[in-house]
Amino acid sequence: MKLIFLGPPGAGKGTLAVRAVELLKIPHISTGAIFRSAIAAKSPLGLKVKAIIDGGRLVDDDTTIALVKERLAQGDAQKGYILDGFPRTIAQAEALAGFSPQGSAPDRVINFDIPDSAVLERLSGRRVCRNCGTNYHITFNKPAQEAVCDTCGGEVYTRDDDREEAVAKRLEVYREQTAPLIDYYRAKGLLIDVDARPSVDEVVANFKKALGI
Ligand code: ADP
Ligand code: ADP
Ligand code: ZN
Repeated sequence: MKLIFLGPPGAGKGTLAVRAVELLKIPHISTGAIFRSAIAAKSPLGLKVKAIIDGGRLVDDDTTIALVKERLAQGDAQKGYILDGFPRTIAQAEALAGFSPQGSAPDRVINFDIPDSAVLERLSGRRVCRNCGTNYHITFNKPAQEAVCDTCGGEVYTRDDDREEAVAKRLEVYREQTAPLIDYYRAKGLLIDVDARPSVDEVVANFKKALGI
């Protein structure tokens, strides 16, 4: 199954993706996570995108499209994928549709339905492991020991782009450049709305019901 997770920053895409990977046994491909590893490694890609991401803006389409094209060509993505955070523009969606003659286009697009107030609450409390990327929340999903990752013992920190100024910019960018993808995929008959407001377990149940699994 080839799935796209579409929704505003902080909607819970990454959190559901971790659960969906267990259910569907397909890789979770997060462009944001790939960019964050590149930044941590100080690779040429990381150096190029750091200021853009910290400011809450989008990395350019050419760079992002090339990255995803390469990732989807790898063996594990042939049986399916969860694309989390890509596409974020119509140009990216059109590129994805044309990646390879068959096989790259998504089967379903999961639209995370959630009000701004909930998104702000989730983003302001989000914490992430610097080492393995596991997500936490200071109220809804705390690590057992403060600021220490349950999975790997790494340092749990606040992403630079989860600061207030960057969050406002990201929500504006989402509305202008990414939200048009809702109608784009609805018109193709691929969109499934999932209520993303309740607890993680309930969102997982909503997701399973929506997919009939
Ligand atoms: P969130 O889900 O909280 O919005 P992500 O981890 O998906 O965050 O993305 C973090 C940042 O990485 C984005 O704000 C953007 O700067 C960059 N990014 C991620 N995916 C894309 C994309 N498809 N196109 C352009 N920039 C992207
Ligand atoms: P996204 O990938 O869409 O940006 P995340 O999965 O990183 O979103 O979730 C954002 C924050 O909200 C994280 O701190 C996460 O722990 C928390 N979170 C995710 N889903 C839920 C939920 N259903 N209820 C409460 N908090 C959630
Ligand atoms: Zn960790």
